[in-house]
Amino acid sequence: MTTTPTRTVDVAIIGAGLAGLSAADQLTQEGHDVVVFEGRDRVGGRIHTINIAGVDVDAGATWVAADHTAVRDLLTRFDGHTIPQTPHGNSVISLGGRRRVAGVRALAPWAVLDIVRIANALQKMVDPLPVTEIWAHPRAAEYDAVSLGEWLASKRALKSTRTFIGMISLIRLGAPAGELSLLHALRYIKTYGGIWRVLSVEGNPQDRVVGTVHSLTTRLADTLGSRVVLNAPVRNVTATDDHVTVETSSETIHARYVIVAAAPSHRAAIQFTPALPEQHYGLSRAWQPGALSKAFVAYDRPFWRSDGLSGEAVSDDNTVLLTFDVSPSPDGPGILMVFCDPREFDAYDRDERSRRVIRHLARLYGDQALRITAYEDFAWGNDTFAPGGPTPAVAPKAWTAFGPYLREPVGRVHWAGTETADQYCGTMNGAILSGHRAASDVHDLLTSR
Ligand SMILES: Cc1cc2nc3c(=O)[nH]c(=O)nc-3n(C[C@H](O)[C@H](O)[C@H](O)COP(=O)(O)OP(=O)(O)OC[C@H]3O[C@@H](n4cnc5c(N)ncnc54)[C@H](O)[C@@H]3O)c2cc1C
Repeated sequence: MTTTPTRTVDVAIIGAGLAGLSAADQLTQEGHDVVVFEGRDRVGGRIHTINIAGVDVDAGATWVAADHTAVRDLLTRFDGHTIPQTPHGNSVISLGGRRRVAGVRALAPWAVLDIVRIANALQKMVDPLPVTEIWAHPRAAEYDAVSLGEWLASKRALKSTRTFIGMISLIRLGAPAGELSLLHALRYIKTYGGIWRVLSVEGNPQDRVVGTVHSLTTRLADTLGSRVVLNAPVRNVTATDDHVTVETSSETIHARYVIVAAAPSHRAAIQFTPALPEQHYGLSRAWQPGALSKAFVAYDRPFWRSDGLSGEAVSDDNTVLLTFDVSPSPDGPGILMVFCDPREFDAYDRDERSRRVIRHLARLYGDQALRITAYEDFAWGNDTFAPGGPTPAVAPKAWTAFGPYLREPVGRVHWAGTETADQYCGTMNGAILSGHRAASDVHDLLTSR
């Protein structure tokens, strides 16, 4: 039931993740009146801090690449700093129960050659593809008809290559290669900057934000003040010819435009009147979030460093996929960030989750890994509001069917969010760019008459 509007603004924004906050920031600086409704009790969305052993760590987004200039601009604005995630020492690779030190370089030469062969074949398909309107490319339907896993099989990729790309698929795209459209994987590779950046476990220069990334989003939200309303899930959006009515459980407002900056899968939880074109509901179903969970394990000090290890490990164990050293200093505490496969993690209780993670860390780093001082984890797929993961796991045939509806405005309803970005899609940088793009579109409309 519609209640009496309490206020009128130029633009209502749904979602206080980096995309929604960036859109609000730009529109506010351009002199427009905005409100941002966020369903959670905090801002940041997939950027979130938890604490372990007295140290704040990023449960969600963590790394900033050199060319993520939109994030770096924000860091400069708020006096934020980064430190390089440079691995000092050797990494560990554990495949098929066999542990080797020195990362992918420890693979047999024929295994490396096959990975290179497959990577080059992927890059060859990626090069001519556009990221905008990818569904219109002459080979889009062909690529979208098969999964990445089916394509690997058709190329007779060796088992070691399929295992390696399968792990990368779980970590980067949040789903096994067999569940993802080849076209989706190619687009991701394109927007991420090429296959070698995607495959690179080592040597992909990334920085970590000193403190946490979440502090950036809170600083941005602070500049917006009372324009950001927390605990306000938007349930209904009703559009007429000259305005939009946006309803939460406690407030109803009128706006001239609305920017929906929630992930595509969460758009479906909002009741639109009149209903969106029916393909939008297909889009929400098809853009299901890929899943990824993180655990953090603390020790007195980063003991692996004295064994010449970097704290980076990649593994095809069912629970632990990847580890990184995120210790604040060499003197302690030592903290390992552990990426976990949700299908072998999220269903267990905390005791069992920690047992599984620690047991596997002992296989990677030896018995010292059993002497933990603290354990924390965060299962993004089990989050109570807007659950999900880093990027959507888009299945075959979905891009060609629903891609055109991802960000095409519907009347006064506009779309933002990292998934709608043409560059750096699935990253914080993509989220900021998407917020700015939607804000520019709405600004042009607001000022055009
Ligand atoms: C485990 C993990 C690791 C990652 N690592 C990295 C990394 O290292 N580097 C990197 O660049 N990126 C990383 N990412 C991705 C990055 O976090 C996202 O790309 C980015 O934060 C997305 O921002 P967004 O604003 O588009 O979406 P979100 O952050 O999802 O924000 C959307 C917001 O909308 C809200 N919302 C949804 N529905 C409603 C509604 N009906 N009413 C009101 N509010 C609503 C949600 O609560 C949410 O706050 C990672 C993500 C995860 C989960």
